Amino acid sequence: MATDSFLLPVSDVVKETADAHSIVFEIPEDVRHAFQPKPGQFLTVAVPSDRDGLAARCYSLSSAPGDPLTVIVKRTVDGYASNWICDNLRPGDTLRVLPPSGIFTPADIDADFLLFAGGSGVTPIISIARTALREGTGRIVVFYANRDERSVIFAEEWARLAAEHPDRLQVVHWLESVQGLPTGEQLKAFAADRLTYDAFVCGPAPFMKATIAALKELEFPRARRHQEKFASLGGNPFGEVAPVKEAETEVVDDAPKQPVTLEIELDGTTSTYDDWDPGTAMLDFLEAKGVKAPYSCREGECSACAFRLLEGEVKMMRNDVLEQEDLDDGIRLGCQSLPTTDTVRGTYS
Ligand SMILES: Cc1cc2nc3c(=O)[nH]c(=O)nc-3n(C[C@H](O)[C@H](O)[C@H](O)COP(=O)(O)OP(=O)(O)OC[C@H]3O[C@@H](n4cnc5c(N)ncnc54)[C@H](O)[C@@H]3O)c2cc1C
Repeated sequence: MATDSFLLPVSDVVKETADAHSIVFEIPEDVRHAFQPKPGQFLTVAVPSDRDGLAARCYSLSSAPGDPLTVIVKRTVDGYASNWICDNLRPGDTLRVLPPSGIFTPADIDADFLLFAGGSGVTPIISIARTALREGTGRIVVFYANRDERSVIFAEEWARLAAEHPDRLQVVHWLESVQGLPTGEQLKAFAADRLTYDAFVCGPAPFMKATIAALKELEFPRARRHQEKFASLGGNPFGEVAPVKEAETEVVDDAPKQPVTLEIELDGTTSTYDDWDPGTAMLDFLEAKGVKAPYSCREGECSACAFRLLEGEVKMMRNDVLEQEDLDDGIRLGCQSLPTTDTVRGTYS
């Protein structure tokens, strides 16, 4: 199954810190329709590789919608793709890219935002902050943790934004070299007066763990707490992708014996189908119906294909990204979902 990837010219490469580069893409007029990102979303890029042909990696957008499409790539020690990008990519080169996707994005841009970033996790965070400052009306507080001063990405940009919006934006820089790692108590103190805000958390695993734990201890409402994990994809969403079917169907012992009815809402349109084969993953079924449902990795490793169950149940063959709380909220991965009830209702909103 061919994927809708696009060859995008790189218009600029900017060294942000010693080990992080901004990559700015040019969007040709004829593919502009496919690149309408929401703040906090990511691109999936195909990095050339002599070994495997390509390595697929996700990079969050730092840009706000309407600005030149920009991602930040930070070198991972001994990593393949991040170092290839930082060492090789130059303006004028092209890179194969999948359209923006992901669910780390505000439902209401007018909300007050409590933003936690660690290291390169600042990328989707600054996209959300820039957009909220431009289009929203709420207050924005940012807790940005880094190893030391030299690791801070967008130091000047944060200072400029805070100076331009003193009544709306507050940025707290936390430097491990000066203050040590933020403790649970310190993170709680930062969030305690902001329990009505919408929280977004992105950074290295220990930082995310500590921040999420602090928010949970404060009983910060789950519906307004979002997190984005940075990980490398194992699969290849760019090439021929075999539909998820057959071998995996045995995973679902309790699969309905007859075709299932699926009612699904996407981009404000609700469609109903009554011939969903219980052995076919929801994403494959929708694509066969000509529906442009979102996806990226097709391996259960990212959350680009996430939808919310409204009725019925599905079983996911693989899930490396959703947490129990996401599942409790009805979130499922379309690329991995096989139906276990006669009717399934869901929404991508
Ligand atoms: C939603 C999301 C958003 C993200 N956003 C960002 C972001 O904004 N900024 C950022 O810096 N990172 C981001 N990441 C992380 C990013 O996708 C990568 O995981 C990160 O850059 C590390 O990739 P790497 O290839 O350098 O390192 P690794 O994945 O650690 O590289 C090692 C891997 O590469 C393989 N490998 C080694 N040599 C080769 C070769 N020659 N060809 C092919 N494979 C090889 C190895 O087998 C091994 O699996 C994000 C991840 C996700 C899921």
